[in-house]
Amino acid sequence: MPFATGSHKGSFSFEFFPAKTESGDRALWEVIRRAEALSPSFISVTYGAGGSSRDRTVEATRRIAAETTLRPVAHLTAVGHSVAELRRIIGQYADAGIRDILVLRGDPPGDPTGAWAPHPQGLTYAYELVELVCSLGEFSVGVAAFPERHPRSADWDSEIRHFVAKCRAGADYAITQMFFDVEDYLRLRDRVAAAGCDVPIIPEIMPATDVRQISRFAELSGAAFPEDLAHRLEAVRGDRDASYRVGVDHATTMGRRLLAEGAPGLHYITLNRSSAAFEIHRNVLDVLDARSPRHALAVGH
Ligand code: FAD
Repeated sequence: MPFATGSHKGSFSFEFFPAKTESGDRALWEVIRRAEALSPSFISVTYGAGGSSRDRTVEATRRIAAETTLRPVAHLTAVGHSVAELRRIIGQYADAGIRDILVLRGDPPGDPTGAWAPHPQGLTYAYELVELVCSLGEFSVGVAAFPERHPRSADWDSEIRHFVAKCRAGADYAITQMFFDVEDYLRLRDRVAAAGCDVPIIPEIMPATDVRQISRFAELSGAAFPEDLAHRLEAVRGDRDASYRVGVDHATTMGRRLLAEGAPGLHYITLNRSSAAFEIHRNVLDVLDARSPRHALAVGH
């Protein structure tokens, strides 16, 4: 597990995406180096939509493992891959010394909300990929959780049943989809606990500093964008500094409450820019520190 468990501990971590260009890569590495100075519990590297960034994700994660003191968690999606390809990618991660994988099903390429069709020699659900990863070696496996329910789930009963099955297949922890209302996270956590599953669920924090971008992300992920936050951002549309402040303030309030409510830590989406995520992290540090020494978080499996 890439972080310590126990109600008195708190982790913090950052999510990056692999860059497509040389200049993007330089910017990414600048942010990674700044993140390294904060000693996060781990950092994660996303896998492109529809499985598109396979090589770049593997390479970025490999380089982080080889050249930094950071603990990289590699995202891996089942979509578009045969089982043979998935085995090869997992082998590449293992060869690079990466033992932490965030296992996901992925969304259909092109239209993420379109019909889901597995690769003819592939897998249909994330739990099958959890089983595959676990069968191939000593990996620490994370999975996705959805505070507002996965958009394809018919009801909460099936959502929780499938989430718990995914955990029982071998997941050590979960990271949530972005959300903007703390109550959604608390309800999910309580439902999972009531189903007898104690896998820690780390809330993902998305700084809502750009109303257009966030609306698009929220639409794709199915996350509801609270009206009051939308109004506050609309009121300052076009003013980048003011939008930034609204987003950081909202995320800070969420982060402080989540930690106070016993969330195992916070996972920040950075979009490869450090300012908002790092500022929110600084703003919640006193709550995190009150729960555990800041630098005593990363532990082995
Ligand atoms: P699953 O757990 O397979 O669930 C998908 C749906 O199937 C759910 O409705 C579930 O209830 C249902 N289901 C599960 N098991 C069964 C069963 N046995 N029978 C019937 N129904 C079942 N996408 C990317 O492309 N790249 C990324 O890097 C990436 N990173 C992410 C990181 C986080 C933290 C999160 C929360 C999501 C991320 N995603 C990423 C998006 C993710 O791939 C999509 O949200 C995807 O639609 C769901 O993936 P899953 O792993 O939860 O799928």
